[in-house]
Amino acid sequence: MDLGIKGRRALVCASSKGLGKGCAEALAAEGVDLILNARGSEALEATANALRSQYGVAVTPVAADITSESGQEAVLAAAGDVDILVTNAGGPPPGLWSDWTRDDFIAAFDANLLTPIALIKALLPGMTQRGWGRIVNITSVAVKAPIPVLGLSNTARSGLTGYVAGVSRQVAGSGVTINNLLPGLHDTDRLLMLDTVDANARGISPEEARAARMATVPVGRFGTAEEFGAACAWLCSTQAGFVVGQNILLDGGAFPGAM
Ligand code: NAP
Repeated sequence: MDLGIKGRRALVCASSKGLGKGCAEALAAEGVDLILNARGSEALEATANALRSQYGVAVTPVAADITSESGQEAVLAAAGDVDILVTNAGGPPPGLWSDWTRDDFIAAFDANLLTPIALIKALLPGMTQRGWGRIVNITSVAVKAPIPVLGLSNTARSGLTGYVAGVSRQVAGSGVTINNLLPGLHDTDRLLMLDTVDANARGISPEEARAARMATVPVGRFGTAEEFGAACAWLCSTQAGFVVGQNILLDGGAFPGAM
């Protein structure tokens, strides 16, 4: 299916690896020019070169911390008038409720709530004036089924979910859609880190922690960045113009609810 977005321009944040990279690649495959971002320049340049040569799209990498004001300024300056925004950043660390300080919450809010809000606020006016736009926020299954050790993530991402529910309806009449994509367990560096922390806490090997986690997924495996990216590209498509303010869960059936 042609998604009808060839020649559009997208800013994909935190996209040198993992789910952000999956989104960038799926958009590149549709002929979308990209602004990519990550803190480390080595993996970022490698991803930018790979997407440029494989898909023939224009790719501008911006090495910056997207959770900082200066990083957002640098990325937005390079992005200009983009048609598509995919917000993403690293997730907060796992821990215990009694250890989380005010500073820990502020850091999580900065990364996973206030950064997407700042980027949305900066780019929405241009999108609404031009009468077309797509915004996809990478959030987490934690907004539907909070994960006890990820309380910082649960809290910050729930805030973003509430923000999007209101704003998406305020701008829906101008051709701009805002939706959230909720990853369940996907095979990325982030999952590797969580397995290592889990293994150390339980006195088991990382392989055992990984197998135990995988056993919670009805499809019997973790999701891939490619599958995640394909869902993102569809949400950015012309055909998805009637999808507004939704929270779409990609978790291989792990969430047990009917809806
Ligand atoms: P990942 O594999 O660790 O990749 C993270 C990417 O983001 C890297 O390119 C990293 O590059 C970049 N990044 C991290 N912090 C950044 C920052 N402050 N500024 C700019 N770039 C930054 O992680 P992932 O699994 O793709 O996860 C993406 C998001 O989905 C995270 O928020 C995560 O918590 C959430 N999530 C993931 C899963 C899962 O199963 N994987 C499940 C639920 C939620 P640099 O390190 O070079 O900056």
